[in-house]
Amino acid sequence: MANKGLFEDALTQFNRAADLMKLDDGMRQVLSSHKRGIRVQFPVKMDDGSIRVFTGYRYQHNIARGPAKGGVRYHPNVNEDEIKTLSFLMTWKCAVAGIPYGGAKGGVKVDPNELSTGELERMSRRYFSEISPFIGPETDIPAPDVNTNAQIMSWFLDTYSMGEGRSTLGIVTGKPLELGGSLGRPEATGRGVSIITNEASKYFLGDEIKGKTVAVQGFGNVGSYTALILGEEYGAKIVAISDITGGYYNPDGINVKEAFEYVTAHKSLEGFNAQKITNEELLELDVDVLIPAALERTIREDNADKVKAKLIVEAANGPTTPEADAILRSKGIHLVPDFLSNAGGVTVSYFEWVQGLYSYFWDLEDVRKALDKAMKNAFKDSATAREEYKTDMRTASYIVAINKVATATRLRGIFP
Ligand code: GLU
Repeated sequence: MANKGLFEDALTQFNRAADLMKLDDGMRQVLSSHKRGIRVQFPVKMDDGSIRVFTGYRYQHNIARGPAKGGVRYHPNVNEDEIKTLSFLMTWKCAVAGIPYGGAKGGVKVDPNELSTGELERMSRRYFSEISPFIGPETDIPAPDVNTNAQIMSWFLDTYSMGEGRSTLGIVTGKPLELGGSLGRPEATGRGVSIITNEASKYFLGDEIKGKTVAVQGFGNVGSYTALILGEEYGAKIVAISDITGGYYNPDGINVKEAFEYVTAHKSLEGFNAQKITNEELLELDVDVLIPAALERTIREDNADKVKAKLIVEAANGPTTPEADAILRSKGIHLVPDFLSNAGGVTVSYFEWVQGLYSYFWDLEDVRKALDKAMKNAFKDSATAREEYKTDMRTASYIVAINKVATATRLRGIFP
């Protein structure tokens, strides 16, 4: 089990749906292959005058429904298997959300906290320049992901634009507002997770999320906005949050706004006023809803049995292994899959791309309204497939997404 790759795990989950919908072999091969992917190794001048070589990737899984789309992450554990898997998930995410993109993902193996701002800028620009021949506003559009942000997107935009000799707003999303970004993009993934959590609460637990207990693992962009919006706007009781320094528990409810301010001032939750628990203990809390919003493989064969939540809403990409999925199913725990629940980010990325293309920018209210509609429709489609195929929500979401990509592929035909 320990040596199985992430992509193999994702294929196991994909094949469960492909089997149920009796997807033919040829289409199964097409949809489980990657269109293209590159690895780049590139030198960067460090502040002390030394040179360091970094390794980065960009994968495009499928472009049948439109340009490839997906984030770029900076993390010491970035590897080819991970980027391949995450680009595969992006295809299903865009399809289930009903936005006209295929899937892509990129990453650099680096701990950005070890770099000075100057080193981070030079590394980002060089990586982007290395992948520039493979991407473009109509071919593949990067965005933020783990440890990347609006500043890094600005450097990406500038690097690409220098090569083109014009400002190319459509080359990345997740840009700052002053540079063609969209209102509501920073909060979009967390807002999308919140909308889905409320829908899932009504559907699986019989009632709105208001007053229900929620534990959120991870306090990066996705986890922090999820906890904030679910607590402040939906009235959920956020009893636990966590980051790399551990878990923070308060059975009476965490003041998430305070946690937000605390992290801005102190860079992490270390020392935050709540009962300190471990990240593992957070997963085992007796709560209504558990939201893993950190990295891959959080819920595995060795800890799935200890989960007590009634509902899991995956906000991270790939947090649950197929073995853990089976254990959760046998325990009657409902789960909303990553590529459905966290599709809000790429959905508002799409809105940003559209706004940039016609240089007309929307009000925050319009962005939120359009996101709300897209997320609710996506949830409804998956819930309908779940009932039709009498299956779990991950498999149902795959069925909805696979149907869309397979239909586009059939309509286009095979070239030549
Ligand atoms: N990195 C985000 C994700 O995993 C957003 C991708 C995008 O906006 O293109 O969905």
